Parts: sequence; structure tokens; C-alpha cells
Amino acid sequence: MSPAILKAAPLGSKAHIGVVGAGVFGAWTAHHLLAAGHRVTLIDAHGPAHSRASSGGESRMTRGAYGKDAIYARMAHDSLTQWKALSAVSGLPIFHPCGVLFFGEAGNDYLTQSIAVGRKLGLATEALGHVEMQRRFPMIDFSGVGLGVFEPAFGALMARRSVQTLVAHFVTAGGHYVHGAVAPPRGSGSLKSIVMAGGERLGADRFVFAAGPWLGKLFPSLLGQRIFATRQEIFFFAAPRGDRRFEPGTMPGWADFNGGDLYYGFPDLEGRGVKFARDTHGALVDPDTQSRRPSEAALAKIIAFRDRRFPALRNAPLTESRVCQYENSSNGDFLIDRHPEMANVVLVGGGSGHGFKHGPEVGRIAAALASGDAAQREPRLTLAPKAETQRREVH
Ligand SMILES: Cc1cc2nc3c(=O)[nH]c(=O)nc-3n(C[C@H](O)[C@H](O)[C@H](O)COP(=O)(O)OP(=O)(O)OC[C@H]3O[C@@H](n4cnc5c(N)ncnc54)[C@H](O)[C@@H]3O)c2cc1C
Repeated sequence: MSPAILKAAPLGSKAHIGVVGAGVFGAWTAHHLLAAGHRVTLIDAHGPAHSRASSGGESRMTRGAYGKDAIYARMAHDSLTQWKALSAVSGLPIFHPCGVLFFGEAGNDYLTQSIAVGRKLGLATEALGHVEMQRRFPMIDFSGVGLGVFEPAFGALMARRSVQTLVAHFVTAGGHYVHGAVAPPRGSGSLKSIVMAGGERLGADRFVFAAGPWLGKLFPSLLGQRIFATRQEIFFFAAPRGDRRFEPGTMPGWADFNGGDLYYGFPDLEGRGVKFARDTHGALVDPDTQSRRPSEAALAKIIAFRDRRFPALRNAPLTESRVCQYENSSNGDFLIDRHPEMANVVLVGGGSGHGFKHGPEVGRIAAALASGDAAQREPRLTLAPKAETQRREVH
């Protein structure tokens, strides 16, 4: 691991900072704060990347293809270096470099813009036509597909494992982890302490709230109408025995624009099964109470898509399913900003179904904001443009 990750905290040398939420955003924020020499307490109600957290899934895609949004292409690239450093010391892999293929109809704006941005940033972005894709990725039926963007340097992050590994390293390096639920903070001015469910107080100089889909519950008047948690369902299917086309390295992570109804998935990572998901936002849900039982309707849609695009998987048995939630901002841009009324509080969230890969850079930016007096310099990541009605722009 990089020296920065192993660096122990010189306790008391700087501020004491409390970070609420040990999902991918909170864990990386805590890591960067500790590496900068702060005393850091990381708190979570249910544990790092627990089963109902947005970070609690098996795998998450990392890619540089972001259409015209160079800001996220750059962040994904910069984050990948940090993920690789963590993967190098984790024992079990955190990053599988299986490559990522986005594909759609010829002339698709998102794909052509991704190619242009990738080339401008010097990423290893390959533009592929129909014939080339069919030759290289024979497990996919590319009927109706004219253009693909292949990124060999990107791939899959093992989500839950990576957050748990990072928090374990944080504790080894001198960070303090507390298991407990934090009550919604009240008042204005400077927040002196947070109150835990048992009534005890935890005082700190500054606080970061990285509570994912729960941000609206902690700050109901500010964020209750600005974070939209939507139900998302994921399914895994067994690859035919002995068929090596579905192994990582042969099969990439992929996303099919599919005429605007985007599906995505992964090869058979670590024997979990071949993953399929639909990216369209599901119903608005409460992360505490939504049913985690997958629906027959979502499974039927996935199977219909799978049978058309991956014909060799027809009749493949379902091996697993998961129900999670995206924690969307109004347009898909992240939130990394100060609380407008609590001067020493930083808010981090709005991962919007694409945040995981950016954890290291989101954490770095949030830590810089919590460490110093500088304001957020990127207008898109501030609170101001976060609206109360959803209009998705970032994919
Ligand atoms: C199905 C699905 C697929 C996705 N696919 C991808 C992908 O392929 N690539 C990608 O980059 N991103 C993807 N994402 C998005 C990404 O996973 C999320 O944006 C990211 O995990 C959000 O992390 P977070 O830390 O903000 O939230 P969370 O992981 O939800 O963490 C928030 C934490 O805060 C804690 N907390 C909340 N309230 C309190 C409280 N009062 N007291 C104490 N603790 C509290 C919670 O317990 C939780 O652990 C996907 C998301 C989903 C759901």
C-alpha cells in the first residue's frame, strides 16, 4: 500500500473530526483525514458496507466513460490509482481489471463524447465497431449495436470487501471506529457534539456526514427533499459449466444503452455468477424499511434482456439476487459541501448509482473541505444546484 495509506495518525496534532457513515464515501474521507494527521472517529449505525448500505453490494463498476462529463472521467481515473494501492495490500482482490465495454447504436452521443474525452485525458479508450465487438466479445449478441467504447484499464471493484478492508486499515493506522446510530443534529452555528442512540455524546471539532441514502433523515429540512432513494434490483446467473466465455478477462464489465433503457453487468467474478442489472430508477423507497425481496417483475425483465443479448445464458439458473437503493441527487452530481448553517459540518453524498468508483477522490475532496477553510471549488458538487425535483443528467 502507498505510504499515505499506512501512515499512523499523530494523535491530537490537528483537529478531532467525526465522520458519520462508513460507506465508501465516509470510509475514504476518514482515511484521507487520518493520513493528513487528524484525529478521526468514524461512526456507523450498522457497520462498514452493511447489507442495506448503498456500498454493501458485491461488485461495482469503475470506468472512465462518462459522456461529456470530463469531471467524472478524471475523478474515476484518479480514484483507480488509489483503489489499486488498496487492492495490492488487501489479500483478496479489490480490483478485477476485466475491462469495461459500453455499447449502443452508431452515433450514440454519450459514446462519441466518451471517446473524445477519453482521448483528451489520455485514457486508454478504444472505439470499436460492430464487427470488431462481435469478434472480441462472442458471448454478446450485438444485433442493432454499431458503436462501443472499450476501456481495458478499468473493471470491477469488490464493493463490500473494499470498504471493510479500508476501515480495517484505518483502525490499524490509529483511526477510531464506533458502532452506533447518530441522532439528527440540531441547532445552527458550530456543532459541538453529536448524540448517539443511547444518549451519550461524542464531541469533535468538525464533523463530516456521509450517510448515503440516510442523509435526508439526518437533515430533513435541508436534504429530505434533495436525496432521492430509489429501489434497484440485481441478479446473478450461473454460467454454463466449462464455458470460459463468461470469465473475467474474456468477458468485460459492460453496459448496453439499449435504446435509452440501460442494462449493465459483469462476468462471473469469483464464482458469484454473471451479473445483470437495469439502471432505470425504481420506486422511491426508505432504506430502513424497503423490502429486500426481489420482485418477479424485475427478474422477468432481466431474463428477457439476458436471453436476447446473451443467448448462451438462456435457461441459466439464478444464483443470487440483491435489492439495494441508489441515493440520487436531483441530476446525478455528487454533494460535497459545507452545511449552510453549521459552519463545521461537511455533507457528502448523492452518489446517484455511480458514486462507488469515485470513493477515493470524493473522500480526498471532502477531507480537504473538512480540514481547511477553503470552500468547495467545483460548482457542480455544491449544495446550491441540488434541486427538489429529479432530472437525471449524469449516467
Ligand atoms: C445496485 C447498485 C449498483 C451500483 N452500481 C455502481 C457501479 O457499478 N459503479 C459505481 O461507481 N457506483 C455504483 N453504485 C453507487 C454506489 O454504490 C453508491 O453511490 C455508494 O456506495 C454510496 O456510498 P455512500 O457512502 O454515500 O452511502 P452508503 O454506502 O449507504 O453509506 C452510508 C452509511 O451511513 C450510515 N448511516 C446512515 N445514517 C446514520 C446514522 N444516523 N448514524 C450512523 N450511521 C449512519 C449507514 O449505516 C451507511 O453505512 C451502485 C449502487 C447501487 C445501489
